[in-house]
Amino acid sequence: MDTTNTVYISLGSNQGDRLKNLQLAVDAIFKHIGNIKLIAKVYNTPALGFDGPDFLNTCLVVVTELSAQDVLDSLLKIESQLGRNRTKSGGYESRIIDLDILLFNDEVIHSKTLTVPHPQIPNRKFVLQPLYEIAPKGEHPVLKVSIAELLKQCEDASVLEPVNIWLKNPGKQINLSQFNYIAIEGNIGAGKTSLATKIATDFNAKLILERFADNPFLPKFYEDAKRYAFTLEMSFLADRYQQISDDLSQLDLFKDFMVSDYDIYKSLIFSKITLPEDEFRLYRRLFYLMYKDIAKPELYVYLYQNTERLQENIKKRGRDYEQNIDNDYLDKINAGYLEFLKNQTDLNVKTIDISDKDFVKNREDYLWILNEICNGV
Ligand code: ATP
Ligand code: CA
Ligand code: CA
Repeated sequence: MDTTNTVYISLGSNQGDRLKNLQLAVDAIFKHIGNIKLIAKVYNTPALGFDGPDFLNTCLVVVTELSAQDVLDSLLKIESQLGRNRTKSGGYESRIIDLDILLFNDEVIHSKTLTVPHPQIPNRKFVLQPLYEIAPKGEHPVLKVSIAELLKQCEDASVLEPVNIWLKNPGKQINLSQFNYIAIEGNIGAGKTSLATKIATDFNAKLILERFADNPFLPKFYEDAKRYAFTLEMSFLADRYQQISDDLSQLDLFKDFMVSDYDIYKSLIFSKITLPEDEFRLYRRLFYLMYKDIAKPELYVYLYQNTERLQENIKKRGRDYEQNIDNDYLDKINAGYLEFLKNQTDLNVKTIDISDKDFVKNREDYLWILNEICNGV
């Protein structure tokens, strides 16, 4: 399920500190729209279509979950935050910043507010040159001609001078691949799977997800905990052990690191709560036999959420068998995790309180969490 969109944006400025304006726009695009994959060179270009100072122009490609209209709204907001005022003249004029959507996936859009692909692409060298650099194989979805060909055929005779300063990609500061293997942990409903999945997509990581959905004992356990606890914990342990040892032994050359939505130690944390004392002791012996062979995560992230938020999330995702989990059970699991974390000396643990964050809805919250993960250890 790919819900992301690839958007090519052109940036231009011919007023004030032009380079700074471009950089501030790049930073704001990263913060509000999405991860920036590539930024082209910056070019000094003459104003086209009106008399005014030279522009600095460039293009970038961003991957976003926003719709085309939301991207436009966000760009217009960034323009005004950077100080652009549109006069009512209607014609071209000097501007602190201009942000246009060139391409949105290969969609064709004709709405009141938005035309995509941007109608002026074929006529503007200051668009085609940087666009070609970041999309050398790109094709115009309407004209069905490559960007390379459009650049060749373009009749705009203006001279573009490359500026020898590159814009910085703010995403580069988030260096998650400094850890070869990150495990995301947390209580039921804490958001482990969503966060691990988002990180894997955004940072080219191999994703290891717990296969709880296939566990036939889980719904039975919630019906009759006493009867099924041991069977459930054993089957989870076997599954986790197999998955982790398989995945960690298969190095994926095309991925930069690994991220999982669990750590195998959760078997012990949960079983301590769900099993009677004697069964737990047996279980623990088996656990440690397996645990010693298994690679530990280089970073263990514990997502903390208060019980109320956990319950909201559990309601929202609506798995039948989870709907009657009581607060007491969640509190016990949280206490079990905290007890485990307290006693870890070898493990690199980062606890992040996300009770007042929503990283699925708010990109700013997501970026805040990524920052915590990278810098706070
Ligand atoms: P041009 O579109 O020729 O480059 P411009 O960038 O100077 O001209 P603006 O005054 O910045 O034009 O934008 C006017 C309106 O254009 C925006 O408010 C927006 O609604 C609309 N628009 C239509 N298609 C696009 C697009 N692909 N990207 C950005 N704005 C668009
Ligand atoms: Ca424009
Ligand atoms: Ca514009």
